[in-house]
Amino acid sequence: MGMKIRIIGLCLVAMLSMSGCGNGHSDVESSNDAQPLEAVEIIVDGSTASRNETVDIVVEAIFEDGERQTVTGGFVISTDLIVEGENSVIIPGDALTGEDFEIAVEYEGVGDKKSIKVVNLLSETIDDEGIITNPEALDMVVNKQRTLPSDYVPEDLVKVEVETCLPNEEINQLREVASDALTRMFEGAEADGFTLVARSGYRSYNTQTALYNGYVSRHGQEYADKYSALPGQSEHQSGLAMDITAQSVGLQLEDYFGDTDEGKWVSEHAHEYGFIIRYPLGMEDITGYLYEPWHLRYLGVDLATEVYESGLTLEEYFMSFE
Ligand SMILES: [Zn+2]
Repeated sequence: MGMKIRIIGLCLVAMLSMSGCGNGHSDVESSNDAQPLEAVEIIVDGSTASRNETVDIVVEAIFEDGERQTVTGGFVISTDLIVEGENSVIIPGDALTGEDFEIAVEYEGVGDKKSIKVVNLLSETIDDEGIITNPEALDMVVNKQRTLPSDYVPEDLVKVEVETCLPNEEINQLREVASDALTRMFEGAEADGFTLVARSGYRSYNTQTALYNGYVSRHGQEYADKYSALPGQSEHQSGLAMDITAQSVGLQLEDYFGDTDEGKWVSEHAHEYGFIIRYPLGMEDITGYLYEPWHLRYLGVDLATEVYESGLTLEEYFMSFE
């Protein structure tokens, strides 16, 4: 019994002396045994990454004399991301713009942290025909340059739980996550003394086609292009947009909704529930749409808050990373 313990003990001492202090900085490209390690730094290419992207991490050791050396092994990476191989991490396929992932590295008792912000660049979520490649993503962007697939129908449409004012069953739907957020927002408004009403949510590709063709036959092409989205280019097809209204504007969609108490409440608080006013006043050249104080787009609380606080339109927010 005593013999066994002594043998294990000896092995441990032998292992420690081989891999421990006596080994110096054998994991750096050239040895710098004379200098104590001062710091470790994580270096990544850029501070943002898209979903599914592989991000290579370079770890550098900084010695007391200021010399830097790349560490090629022997460090430990801690992160919620999937670690691939020795020094790469993969951004998850469902990562959304605005999410932050932290990467921590420890090497010989010294550590560093870096965070990578997810930005699903517009240039990487569109194909050669201008069709959006991430229609199901909560951070997808549809506009007059970015078309939803004609067969895209969200899989999780539900009937909204809030008060509505039109009998059409299709448009009283939203994707579940957006519907839940809308319920919370309407409750929040009610608690502050304002009653909101949902008017028009999900709109299928076929419905948008009929709507657009109706505009063309009644008012001509030019008018239709100004006031109606082309099929595939309406945000309503995403199931993430809802036009809201109130009794103060006769349950219609009116510009002056933005000047009502309800409209002001919405513009100040929508982001707290994950929505933005998608087509702000005076931004027609960028969004492609005139002011629509009633048109809310669900992005999730994190991204909606980032966009709101940036003061930018959704297009400008994304373009700031390109
Ligand atoms: Zn709308």
